[in-house]
Amino acid sequence: MKKNAQTALIHAPRRAPQYIQTVQPPLFRASTIIFENTDALFNRHWTDAYDYSYGTHGTPTTFTLGDHIAQIEGGLYHLLAPSGLSAINLVNSCLLSQGDEVWVPDNIYGPNMEHLRNLQQRYGIAVKVYNPLEVENFSPSDKAKLLWLEAAGSVTLEFPDLIGLVKKAQAHNILTALDNTWGAGLAFNAFDFGNEHLSVDMTVHALTKYPSGGGDILMGSVVTRDQHLHHQLFRMHAIQGICVSGDDVAQVQRSLASMQLRYEHQAKSTIELLNWLKLQPQFAQVLHPADATSAGHAYWKEICRDGHSAGLVSVIFDNNYKLQDIRNFCDSLKLFKLGFSWGGPVSLVMLYNLKEMRVLEHSHLKEGFLVRFCIGLEHPEDLIQDIQQALKVLA
Ligand SMILES: *Cc1c(COP(=O)(O)O)cnc(C)c1O
Repeated sequence: MKKNAQTALIHAPRRAPQYIQTVQPPLFRASTIIFENTDALFNRHWTDAYDYSYGTHGTPTTFTLGDHIAQIEGGLYHLLAPSGLSAINLVNSCLLSQGDEVWVPDNIYGPNMEHLRNLQQRYGIAVKVYNPLEVENFSPSDKAKLLWLEAAGSVTLEFPDLIGLVKKAQAHNILTALDNTWGAGLAFNAFDFGNEHLSVDMTVHALTKYPSGGGDILMGSVVTRDQHLHHQLFRMHAIQGICVSGDDVAQVQRSLASMQLRYEHQAKSTIELLNWLKLQPQFAQVLHPADATSAGHAYWKEICRDGHSAGLVSVIFDNNYKLQDIRNFCDSLKLFKLGFSWGGPVSLVMLYNLKEMRVLEHSHLKEGFLVRFCIGLEHPEDLIQDIQQALKVLA
């Protein structure tokens, strides 16, 4: 068929062959997916995880990354979302209905709490806060549907009694969702705490952090081992139009190969920093799960493989310092940049006022302003020097 120039521009004479082998998988970008014929159209099963019918439901590119993430975390089924918080939204909006009760640790990732508070106001969902270090504190009623877990917890990095909490949730038939961003599937297997029945029901992972590793991509995932639960999440994922860009997926896929090397390297640098930070008189307390003085250290030791401990460490300044002092300290850092998130090449610092962030009393935390350091890929000696020079503004 002879084509007009405009048509020829669109229907190119050459397409890449299917069989070519490359180190990275080929990238599919799709809104439309072209059906071979009407038979294929009428026989499509978009509710099957691996059928291709439209871009929002997935492409070989998104399924390849999802399979990879599920495998790393010890799960079977996966869904990708455009950010970690979007993955959290998927879980909350799928599993919670009017009148239900949800339990969250006091050190939960802040925006998850805000999301739940919003559901509370609009749908009468009861949000209950528990102390992650005390299983008895989690006392579900018969309306409880979901227990959120986070290990280590956000900002203050307490390591919870994961096994105790999962056992209790299972005894009450309550679903468990673990925010697995800190462990990244490398520090421990949330789907097998010693045996496969001792397992969380689903993990949420901000792929924005370690899997991306670049500080430049946003993405999230929800992984399960249970087909029925996955199907529920899958339907919600579809009707909410939650999907990710193939280009972003390809970037995360490319970074996965080096994830464990980066994770272990950053963890090692963080331990070096931790040991130095502990000796500095300006800090009243240093928070890191691998440190014997940190809350939940024994649980961390029980669960985390090979001393895995990620790249975060927080310090609480001596309570004599004023907010302006701590701001001066943060502003004087040169290598550490002031910004949210972690897992990228650049070390980050963030300043928090704990009093505004916690609901319960916490006797294990000293009074004072808290600064969290997220360790990047710089040499730890240079990072120590940077903190050392910035501490001089406190003199
Ligand atoms: C960053 C983060 C998230 C959210 O991920 P985004 O992609 O930034 O939305 C969720 N949970 C934890 C623990 C995180 O650190």
